[in-house]
Amino acid sequence: SSLPSSSAASLHGSAGGKVPLGLRRRALRVLVTGGAGFVGSHLVDRLVERGDSVIVVDNFFTGRKDNVAHHLANPRFEVIRHDVVEPILLEVDQIYHLACPASPTNVVGTLNMLGLAKRIGAKFLLTSTSEVYGDPLQHPQVETYWGNVNPIGVRSCYDEGKRTAETLTMDYHRGANLEVRIARIFNTYGPRMCIDDGRVVSNFVAQALRKEPLTVYGDGKQTRSFQYVSDLVEGLMSLMEGEHIGPFNLGNPGEFTMLELAKVVQDTIDPNARIEFRPNTADDPHKRKPDITRAKELLGWEPKVPLREGLPLMVTDFRKRIFGDQEA
Ligand code: NAD
Ligand code: UDP
Ligand code: UDP
Repeated sequence: SSLPSSSAASLHGSAGGKVPLGLRRRALRVLVTGGAGFVGSHLVDRLVERGDSVIVVDNFFTGRKDNVAHHLANPRFEVIRHDVVEPILLEVDQIYHLACPASPTNVVGTLNMLGLAKRIGAKFLLTSTSEVYGDPLQHPQVETYWGNVNPIGVRSCYDEGKRTAETLTMDYHRGANLEVRIARIFNTYGPRMCIDDGRVVSNFVAQALRKEPLTVYGDGKQTRSFQYVSDLVEGLMSLMEGEHIGPFNLGNPGEFTMLELAKVVQDTIDPNARIEFRPNTADDPHKRKPDITRAKELLGWEPKVPLREGLPLMVTDFRKRIFGDQEA
């Protein structure tokens, strides 16, 4: 394999200068699949900062080299262009599995990464999603809720793919004694988010910056809870390092209707931005809000950045990417 040697990696302490050498945590070799994407690249930043050796496996479907370009000169960082649908041989201590095309191959990729984790005895973290709750009949959603997912709807491929990924993860835990972690991620936003993939926060921000109307689907009364990406990354790392398998909801309980979100975007970018109503997609969940009691109690984690603080940080990044540096 093309790995940085573990002895080189272990020269880098991670706990900062004040901790006696013997007490420093051994630097780890960490694989981040989907590490060139939005969430993955922020996770990579923190892992590299901590002193770990990081390998990114990404096929650049939705991710961008730009997101990790600042690490390319670092000998403890490596990026491999690879589709996780194909098997791969690597030697690492931990696997954060984020790579996820919105297609049935999502399951195959997860199976391969579980097989890899089993062969090398690595700890495996799955980034699942709040979509496993479907259009929830329980509000807010607790991890013990089994969900309300349409198996044949337009959104099913993603939802059911993640549900199957959770099943496989638990099967490998029970059957192969794999150490696993499951995060159920709620709507997350921040710098480096895809500009044109149609998510509501990226749509509204790009529309307001481009002086286009904000497209509200349906009556705009459906709710979501928006988490800033740095909070999510802290949650993922606490989960990986902690003792508990999960699943854990990782999200910000602050709940907004889409009309309220549009108002926050207007206040942040352009008070004159117009709103335009469009028909909603089928099976759109009416409400979504995480109950994060379990993560608070067992991981000591909770989000710190409210929407009105996080949004401006994303706007700065979007301005640069849409208009170029000179106008930013
Ligand atoms: P993203 O699209 O920015 O990142 C996914 C990355 O995976 C991209 O870099 C993409 O190129 C890569 N990828 C996709 N298919 C691949 C394949 N077959 N092989 C290798 N690489 C592949 O999305 P994100 O928002 O950063 O999401 C990361 C993870 O978190 C995903 O698993 C997603 O389902 C989960 N999640 C995200 C959110 C959110 O709000 N952002 C919410 C719930 C769950
Ligand atoms: N796999 C991989 N890298 C590895 C080990 C396994 O990509 O280092 C893939 C392997 O090709 C298989 C999947 O992971 O498709 C599941 O592997 P496992 O050994 O669990 O199942 P098996 O091969 O016994 O069906
Ligand atoms: N939405 C909207 N305008 C847009 C994009 C999305 O009103 O331009 C709505 C969408 O109908 C949904 C909510 O915003 O009710 C969140 O959509 P998104 O795709 O961001 O996330 P998800 O539905 O996966 O939670």
